Amino acid sequence: MNWITKVLKFGEKIKTAIKKRPSKEEIANSDWISCCKGPVLKKELEANLWVCDLCGKHHRINCKQRFDIFFGNNNYEILQTPLPKDDPLNWKDSKSYKDRLNDARKKTGQDCAVMIVKSKVDNINVTVGAFDFSFIGASVGAAEGEAIIYGIQHAIDNQNPFILFTSGGGMRMFESLIALSQMTRTTLAINELKKNNLPYIVVLTDPTAGGISASFAMLGDITFAEPGALVAFAGKRVIQATVKEELPEDFQKSEYVEKCGFIDLIVPRKDLNKKIGSLLSILLKKNSDISSVSNEASEDIAQITKTAS
Ligand SMILES: [Zn+2]
Repeated sequence: MNWITKVLKFGEKIKTAIKKRPSKEEIANSDWISCCKGPVLKKELEANLWVCDLCGKHHRINCKQRFDIFFGNNNYEILQTPLPKDDPLNWKDSKSYKDRLNDARKKTGQDCAVMIVKSKVDNINVTVGAFDFSFIGASVGAAEGEAIIYGIQHAIDNQNPFILFTSGGGMRMFESLIALSQMTRTTLAINELKKNNLPYIVVLTDPTAGGISASFAMLGDITFAEPGALVAFAGKRVIQATVKEELPEDFQKSEYVEKCGFIDLIVPRKDLNKKIGSLLSILLKKNSDISSVSNEASEDIAQITKTAS
């Protein structure tokens, strides 16, 4: 076999490998998901709250999965958030924005990337929001901005703490300046929450980046994060090319960001309800006297105070 035949054969092999690769839809509909040691059954991962037993990876979950885990199955009420006019700029690139929206709505069953619910944590009424990354990368446009502001207003009207599970790549460029203005609008709304002395708790989940981490995701009174979550503004490669330096392996992972002081506490998914419940009890002086708060909660507070100073 001469070298030309070898190259041609190799080319054929690559072609078959590319052809055989499953589509995004096939991956989504499959019973399997890939993790550290290869494919894992989705059912098994779901039973473990979508966290890998072997490597501890916290897989991305949608809003309903998030609330089911946090509050218990269907133990919450979904609030209908306002929906502004779709596609105000009539955006079109390789595909129209309207088509992208329709696809995302069909895929997720949500009108926008954010879902707001009300429920109770440790018997304290709370208003809670979460993002679905599979809805156009959980980017923020007018509808998502409105949903967050609606959630905050609901929290103020009911004197509830506001908890936000953030995720997403940033502001949605198909809405240009309208999307960017959501950074200011949500920041102003959070200021109103703070004027009302209501706690604003943020839980950073994988990935929280761009305009989201440059606005409401970093304004929490207390900032939690899930283990191994990507928390960034610009991407690692962009920074590396700008500063022309090799960056650490765990750069922009929640553990690294915690060391830099931007995160108060990293909490595994299974413990989030308990931790947030204890902290809210302390902040709102509910359920019990501060003196009777568990040792574990006191340790968390001590760590948060240490990070803050
Ligand atoms: Zn794994």
